[in-house]
Amino acid sequence: MLIVMRKDATAEQIESVMRAVEERGFKARPIPGGDRVSIAILFNQGAVDASTFEDLPGVKEAIPVTRPYKLVSRETKADATKIQIGDVCIGGREMVIIAGPCAVESEKQAMAIAEHVKKSGGDMFRGGAFKPRTSPYAFQGMGEEGLKILAKVRDTFGLPVVTEVMDLSHFDMVEHYADVVQIGTRNMQNFSLLRRAGESKRPVLLKRGMSATVEEWLMAAEYVMAEGNPNIILCERGVRTFVRHSRNTLDLSAIPVVQRESHLPIIIDPSHAAGYRDQVLPLGRAAAAVNAHGVMIEVHHEPEKACSDGAQSLLPSQFDELCRQMRAIDQILQPSDELK
Ligand code: PEP
Ligand code: MN
Repeated sequence: MLIVMRKDATAEQIESVMRAVEERGFKARPIPGGDRVSIAILFNQGAVDASTFEDLPGVKEAIPVTRPYKLVSRETKADATKIQIGDVCIGGREMVIIAGPCAVESEKQAMAIAEHVKKSGGDMFRGGAFKPRTSPYAFQGMGEEGLKILAKVRDTFGLPVVTEVMDLSHFDMVEHYADVVQIGTRNMQNFSLLRRAGESKRPVLLKRGMSATVEEWLMAAEYVMAEGNPNIILCERGVRTFVRHSRNTLDLSAIPVVQRESHLPIIIDPSHAAGYRDQVLPLGRAAAAVNAHGVMIEVHHEPEKACSDGAQSLLPSQFDELCRQMRAIDQILQPSDELK
């Protein structure tokens, strides 16, 4: 249930509606809109009687929310969420390009790649310090040392940094260094990690589980938002299918579906969808054409020496070309701003 307040509702009226909700054993969450406040009712088991609230002073109407996800739903908040990270805005008209290596491997490596990313017009830098690897014997990431290198990249190039948190016990450390905390595909339904992310002041980049439906994915985002963090960036990174020609199958149709269902920004990671660098350029173009709010691309200056995901990492010159092509497509789409 969503209680929509009148435009001229006073702060006291909003307070007293929230009190009325909580007195009935539910949780009230105010949602500031363009010109009015709405109040979402959370943790109700079953339907709530609208008439209980409709007669309260300052209330315009009480409308049922039909979707299982509430806070992330367009029903609750019609206008698109824009997330400001330093000078970068995700969810606005401009497509945001996040790029960097799969993993931070050394200061020299991260700095060399960041220099290319910056030069090509990338907006943010990515790099894993804690890596979720299939094999326990594979490179697991540099840990805190890697996070410190990311902080150095930010200070040197002015690029905000995105990095993955894999484990609840590392959350404080990762959010201390990162501008955006990433939750990877394997942890999309790690509910304690999602709840902790919901308490964070940092925006969260939530990747789609490799076999998750859009509904499960939005419910995962709901976990984060229900704890109080409204800044969530969804990331489509391909789902597992029967094909062998690519690592995953990029589900492009998820983008218009998510944009219809949710006000949250959604970006695409063509690198993990593709698995091979020759597919990343066309999929990156598709990301721009489908009107995603951004992309996240793996780039490496020496991919043959990369500790992880070298095969899907673009060479700096290829990344440069991809940026040029994506920006050109984004430019063509600019007038149709109702799409974003
Ligand atoms: C990554 O972005 O480095 C990563 C591990 O991605 P995913 O969780 O999508 O596999
Ligand atoms: Mn990777």
